[in-house]
Amino acid sequence: MHTAEKIRKLGFKRWYERALLEGHAYLVTCFLGMIVAIAGIEVVGGRQGLGQVLVGVAVGGLGVGVCLFSWQRYHRILILAEHLGAGATCGRCGHYARFGLIGSGGSDMDDPREQPQERGPIWLHVKCRECGNEWVI
Ligand SMILES: [Zn+2]
Repeated sequence: MHTAEKIRKLGFKRWYERALLEGHAYLVTCFLGMIVAIAGIEVVGGRQGLGQVLVGVAVGGLGVGVCLFSWQRYHRILILAEHLGAGATCGRCGHYARFGLIGSGGSDMDDPREQPQERGPIWLHVKCRECGNEWVI
């Protein structure tokens, strides 16, 4: 689901909370991947035969893969949350995250299938529920 759809469905504050939770879950997964990678190195270091070396390399590679993937997701989710959170305050009345979504576009950094360089960063056209001010985040 596109970030704009999630924000429309949940509201900005709940989306933001969930983005932070999801991002930090990926950070924890990254650390777990690091532990698995280190365990793989330990298995390779034991040198108890070719089979154990191959298992160690496979486990270590899996851990590195999980760690890199999770770090990338953590980084993308937090950059997106920070970008949208920084623009969520109404410039006229100063209310935070009290807006309705009018439109959106750009590449979705929250979706791993999309490449941010292809269509530019995500933008949201929003309207303040308090004063009617419109702006683009
Ligand atoms: Zn306002």
